[in-house]
Amino acid sequence: MKSDRISRGHAIYLHGHVELLEADVEHESYTFRVKGSNHEVYMVHYEEGSWLCECHDWRGRAPGDPGSFTCKHIDSCYFLLADLKGIGKQSTLEFGTKKIEV
Ligand SMILES: [Zn+2]
Repeated sequence: MKSDRISRGHAIYLHGHVELLEADVEHESYTFRVKGSNHEVYMVHYEEGSWLCECHDWRGRAPGDPGSFTCKHIDSCYFLLADLKGIGKQSTLEFGTKKIEV
């Protein structure tokens, strides 16, 4: 079952509100720009198996749950990365320690 947050992340992706700005495939380092529901813009980074987002949700919850909490912005980046890697039809996607059902 998809969580609500993942569904919202998927919606952000479907609306084209997530954009890959920089990619270093060799080092698996990515920078994204994500437009949220109130048209605020957040920068999201993926580096060395860890995600970082600028939003209040992530900064408030990630320190208490290191490495495993992702916000809807980060979730939207999974869908874009899956699409760019051509693995969007796969049922399970893995980044670092995180697995996501798509
Ligand atoms: Zn966020």
